[in-house]
Amino acid sequence: MNLYSTSLVWFRRDLRSYDHAALSRALQDSARVYCVFVFDIDILDQLKDRADRRVEFIWHSIKELNAALVQMGGGLMVRQGRACEVIPRLAQELGVSAVFANRDYEPQAIARDAAVADALAAAGMAFHALKDHVIFERDEVMTGSNRPYSIYTPYKNAWLKRLTDADLQPHPIAELASRLASPPDTLLPALHDLGFQASDLARLNVKTGMSGAHDAWEQFAQQLSAYDVLRDSPALDATSHLGVHLRFGTISIRAVARHAYYAPGKGAQVWLAELIWREFFHMILFHHPRVAQHAFRTELDAIAWEDRADYFQAWCEGRTGYPIVDAAMRQLNQTGFMHNRLRMIAASFLVKDLHIHWLKGERYFAAKLLDYDLASNNGNWQWAASTGCDAQPYFRIFNPVTQSARFDPEGVFIKRFVPELAELERRDIHTPWNLLPIEQQACGVVLGRDYPAPIVDHEAARAKTLAMFKTSQ
Ligand SMILES: Cc1cc2nc3c(=O)[nH]c(=O)nc-3n(C[C@H](O)[C@H](O)[C@H](O)COP(=O)(O)OP(=O)(O)OC[C@H]3O[C@@H](n4cnc5c(N)ncnc54)[C@H](O)[C@@H]3O)c2cc1C
Repeated sequence: MNLYSTSLVWFRRDLRSYDHAALSRALQDSARVYCVFVFDIDILDQLKDRADRRVEFIWHSIKELNAALVQMGGGLMVRQGRACEVIPRLAQELGVSAVFANRDYEPQAIARDAAVADALAAAGMAFHALKDHVIFERDEVMTGSNRPYSIYTPYKNAWLKRLTDADLQPHPIAELASRLASPPDTLLPALHDLGFQASDLARLNVKTGMSGAHDAWEQFAQQLSAYDVLRDSPALDATSHLGVHLRFGTISIRAVARHAYYAPGKGAQVWLAELIWREFFHMILFHHPRVAQHAFRTELDAIAWEDRADYFQAWCEGRTGYPIVDAAMRQLNQTGFMHNRLRMIAASFLVKDLHIHWLKGERYFAAKLLDYDLASNNGNWQWAASTGCDAQPYFRIFNPVTQSARFDPEGVFIKRFVPELAELERRDIHTPWNLLPIEQQACGVVLGRDYPAPIVDHEAARAKTLAMFKTSQ
């Protein structure tokens, strides 16, 4: 006996047709299940770039999701509008008894879902939100005194201690697929009908959807065992590039965590620890939604950042005169991706060398990163800025030259994104300002003409940062 005769599954950041908590639950509880995705104008209208790569990524991914659902006997309706209005209206049109969705932990999403739940309840329909996006959510991993953790390592230990095989099991779909209802329409609006245009995803060879996630995973799984050794080299680019797929749910977190948990070796362990960082920051955002705007350590909101517009512009454009920072920022601008080590270096440089508020950098990354995720971006920015929970202590300030020499010793990565330095030798690539004018001429890079001189002196900037933090402690 089914609980509901007809239900609706609302897809959001979970664009796959397998191991999907909301779809699985809806299929178990209902005789007929419709599926919908909404291009939510409350989100889309905030995007400045009309060729936003994320919108195109979603567009291709839902196209593939629809094809997969059609194959299973259903299909995906696609709507455009304010989700908080579209969903209750569609639910009524279809005559469903319940709407199912996977839980989202961002403050705006929580508010939207509450509004949808209220509107549905007023019309006599149920709203069910399920855990899907993470292995452990909200208050599933708490301290002994039942408080949220604010330090990563004990959180990770408690997370691992709590984990059982059941937490990694997929939610069944295929065996219940006969309950999928064929929708009245599955028309996918063209990108330009949504107010957007194609981006450069194809040129960048970014693969979308479940198939793209599958390919990325297959490729990465072969080098998982070496992750602990290779992950810090931007030139080798040996990380998974699954961030965007985890962000939009084109891959299941349970599937990849299961693999990492059972795989032998340190590489898999270190990679699983990164997935736990992701859950840690989701938990932090859920329990402390104010971090979206404020320092986790509230007293550090008082720091008097200098916020020089010319410095910020130079950082955004990759023109600071520090090759590793500039290469990092150009990678972000040109590809929508930045290697994790470089994210740390670029973020530290903005805050602790240029004395610009971390939120400005956080917002810039939010606009550009294909894998942008509020919880992870905010958590990591606050880590780099020393304003967050379990953050880098304020007196540990990355030196962009030593970081560069350590993680890109030959300058292979730098030369890829800062081609004007291509002729520099290994000993000069991290510090082009040390070249004599005659040597600059010989390498075809005159500082101030072909490549900027450093916009700040690191040692002086460092001393200023220490003073700024000291007065706010
Ligand atoms: C300043 C800054 C901003 C960041 N912004 C984001 C962001 O917006 N979205 C995002 O997903 N990650 C962010 N990260 C974390 C990390 O840099 C990226 O997850 C990673 O580089 C993505 O590449 P990958 O998928 O190849 O990662 P892999 O190294 O293969 O890691 C696998 C997955 O683990 C998770 N992960 C890895 N490192 C972290 C971390 N430090 N914190 C949280 N999750 C992690 C991601 O989901 C990632 O896809 C940020 C880091 C910094 C320092």
